[in-house]
Amino acid sequence: MKCPGQDPRFLKVEVKKCIKCGYAVEIFTDEIRVKCPKCKSYVYRETSSCID
Ligand SMILES: [Zn+2]
Repeated sequence: MKCPGQDPRFLKVEVKKCIKCGYAVEIFTDEIRVKCPKCKSYVYRETSSCID
């Protein structure tokens, strides 16, 4: 079974707030984490249950 969020055709961008500095970091749905451009800490995307 394929999760719609994992399909590159449904790639979209989400905005996550950095837990450290509160900076709004853009993260693509195919990425698990991105580095905050402000404080250089990692911002993790909340992964859904479809990831085994
Ligand atoms: Zn930050």
